[in-house]
Amino acid sequence: MVSACLLISKCRSEATGVGDATQDIEALIDLMARLPGLGPRSARRAVLHLIKKRARLMAPLATAMQGVADSARECLQCGNICTSDICDICTSGKRANGEICVVEDVADLWAMERANVFGGRYHVLGGTLSALDAIGPEDLRIPALVRRVADEQVTEVILALNATVDGQTTAHYIADQLSNRCAVTSLAQGVPIGGELDYLDDGTITAALRARKGV
Ligand SMILES: [Zn+2]
Repeated sequence: MVSACLLISKCRSEATGVGDATQDIEALIDLMARLPGLGPRSARRAVLHLIKKRARLMAPLATAMQGVADSARECLQCGNICTSDICDICTSGKRANGEICVVEDVADLWAMERANVFGGRYHVLGGTLSALDAIGPEDLRIPALVRRVADEQVTEVILALNATVDGQTTAHYIADQLSNRCAVTSLAQGVPIGGELDYLDDGTITAALRARKGV
């Protein structure tokens, strides 16, 4: 009888791969495995770590996640993720310098903020134009951007879009829409800081050469 129980336990353990984990823990692992950058193995390790640090990490994390789940929303003006109708960047008078930086995604906005070099406001498109996926201007925040340029006395729109075909197609479309309304610029493309020429692809070297400047 004892050996039968051990056998069943062993079979169950092999089937789930998580020892004697309960269904709740397995469900948590399945959810964690859906996060970007985490596969089933990493999710299992993360959940185990959380359980071991239940009081100091797991409980505060659960509280913080619930709080953000209840309050997170898109800024009605720029599309940033925040916990109020208008985000801190849009409400800050210091950021109203006439410059709007256009990005594809909130992650790009946060990357720009980490660099701490841009003092204006943002506009998150929510993607790029794509003929393949049938994504047109109305599916993005492009009409809202055109309205903002007219309403907010914008002097320059900086296109910080990804250097992909869709990103550049979108940049050209926006530049056409805003021509004669304000200056439209885009981020330079070329050699990354700390980059070595020998490791760059042909397209990057070509872009860098075209964007060369006086030293
Ligand atoms: Zn905002």
